[in-house]
Amino acid sequence: MSAHAAEPAVDRAFIRRAVELADLNAVRVALYQNTHDPEIAALPKAVELDEAQRELLISKAAAWLEANASTERPAEPDEAELRTLMNLATKEEMGDLEFNARRELAAFKDFPLMIEWDGEKPAIPDDFMVVVIGSGFSGLATGVQLTNLGLPYTILERRPEPGGTWSVNRYPDIRVDTISITYEFAFEKDYRWSEYFGRGAEVREYLEGVSKKFGPYEHTKFGCDVTKATFDAERDKWIVEYDSPEGPQTIEANFIINGVGTFANPKFPSFEGQDSFEGDILHPARWPDGVDFSGKRVAVIGNGSTGVQLLAPVAEQAAHVDVFQRTPQWISPRDKYGAPMEPEIVWLLDNFPGFWNWWRYMAIAGLFGTHGFILPDEEWVAKGGKWNPMNDQLRSDLTAYIKAQVNGDEELIEQLVPDYAPFSRRPVVDNGWYKSLTRDNVDLVTSPIARFTPKGIETEDGEVHEVDAVITATGFEVMKYLWPADYLGVDGTSIHDFWSEDGPRAYISMMVPKFPNMFMLYGPNSQPLSGGTGLPVWYVIWASYAAQCITHALQEGKTRVDVKSEAFERYNKALDIEASTLLLLQEEGAPQENYYINEYGRMQVNAPWYGPEYHRMCTEVEWDDLELS
Ligand code: NAP
Repeated sequence: MSAHAAEPAVDRAFIRRAVELADLNAVRVALYQNTHDPEIAALPKAVELDEAQRELLISKAAAWLEANASTERPAEPDEAELRTLMNLATKEEMGDLEFNARRELAAFKDFPLMIEWDGEKPAIPDDFMVVVIGSGFSGLATGVQLTNLGLPYTILERRPEPGGTWSVNRYPDIRVDTISITYEFAFEKDYRWSEYFGRGAEVREYLEGVSKKFGPYEHTKFGCDVTKATFDAERDKWIVEYDSPEGPQTIEANFIINGVGTFANPKFPSFEGQDSFEGDILHPARWPDGVDFSGKRVAVIGNGSTGVQLLAPVAEQAAHVDVFQRTPQWISPRDKYGAPMEPEIVWLLDNFPGFWNWWRYMAIAGLFGTHGFILPDEEWVAKGGKWNPMNDQLRSDLTAYIKAQVNGDEELIEQLVPDYAPFSRRPVVDNGWYKSLTRDNVDLVTSPIARFTPKGIETEDGEVHEVDAVITATGFEVMKYLWPADYLGVDGTSIHDFWSEDGPRAYISMMVPKFPNMFMLYGPNSQPLSGGTGLPVWYVIWASYAAQCITHALQEGKTRVDVKSEAFERYNKALDIEASTLLLLQEEGAPQENYYINEYGRMQVNAPWYGPEYHRMCTEVEWDDLELS
């Protein structure tokens, strides 16, 4: 699969340009893997290369490629070699915990992190069925895993196509905000993005391609929206009810794997007077085709990832835009955001064995240290620091960024610089948001919204902002997990009742007692907060955890997998303790203004653990915590 059609003319200058444009750390490690040249091994990380070292690396890589360029995939290095290469990549010796969590990130295997049958594949009962709910990233990862294991499955997808949130969200300028080399599946090694940060339509195309190429598509029933599932404890089966184009249907499942996502339900605000507003109200997750704001006055409510991503294109088109900001955000730039992928880089990906692997690894390695942003440092605070040295440095860098973006406009700076620490919330990526605020046709409004009027929005300072359309970029009902469907477990317990005390919880984000044979991907407390990797790696990890449980049950002749209540309680107690020390639940993290924290004041979206530790929990099944019967 490739978004690039024309073959470039490859000569010496082209190859040199390719290397110069590339991530030089990836070049360094890939070249070493191919040559074992000690001079390359001795080079420091790319940021520390002096001019002569940089030239040495580039000229050696270009010369090697002139003679050896090849579309062959590199063989998987043995464990010792892999460890050497990984240490060379980041120039740090890593411990076993980290090595185990990272060893498949460079993705030399065909299906990294997926499981295979451990021993003989048993006879699969004729009526055996796994029902997967959703065909976004999680559902597709699950489908590929089940295809590879040769297990019967059906994916129920309410949309007419695969893609999940990428099918739902079609607002202007939507695109990934983590670089695509990390926001893709490691088993699809041949997709070449047309931009460094793939746009929404391309992500949809990519996911449809994955679905068709690796198996899930033919197992998917589109237009099928699950409404209810009931566990039949007599037969250890789930009875799954869903609406389909042919009307209500039922399917029986031995196991349910739920990939409905955290951002499944848009949050629609309800301001006083909203119904009286005479213009259009648009939620980005319900974006109609063909919207044209030319000559219109538009309000944008919200400055999360969505509101920030869509402002620039809206402001370029509309006559005037009022941006309603309730809480300032830390919004940061990303290198190559919006930039096309050069033909030279595409050529390198196809012709430099190991480059795709090590570019991917190095792009993910950029996140290895993020745990440091949220860990407390009491000594530092006692000395007058705000949170810890690393976080305070980021805060000062981002403050400088804001000041530069708004050309030193004191009034804007005052309104825009948050009074809480960065990394308390999901980082927001700048798509020209600050710059847009400096346009003549854009105003930032910070007085709280009092009500809607027929002609616009009135703020608490008494001003009425007349607009023709309102964009409510107000986010998602993150707390209503699995909703509006209901799941009735053993004794008919509803999952929503089970979670009524303080919001959704799970054992290692995937399993809930009383709800046997059901796994959730991107479930409660799943989103890795730190030291992590891109999310697509995690979708595969969670899918393979569920697959480990299912294959083990089949091999043991068991029909039911439960998490023990004691394990669920113990895990959640430890999780709450771990979360409590982190920035997000401290005053400096402004927990009251953060969808990571639920209405009961507990962290619900994230896994608070150090990334490699959470990786261990999700890959090495603690069979003593489970009951197979
Ligand atoms: P969000 O982060 O929850 O932001 C919602 C925004 O609306 C906030 O600014 C919030 O203000 C504001 N808001 C909500 N209710 C309001 C009200 N009644 N009055 C005034 N303001 C109100 O939602 P999002 O921007 O849609 O992003 C959600 C998540 O989706 C992201 O964090 C990210 O994980 C994902 N996402 C990813 C991408 C990408 O990768 N490209 C793009 C978009 C979204 P407060 O801050 O005061 O609450």
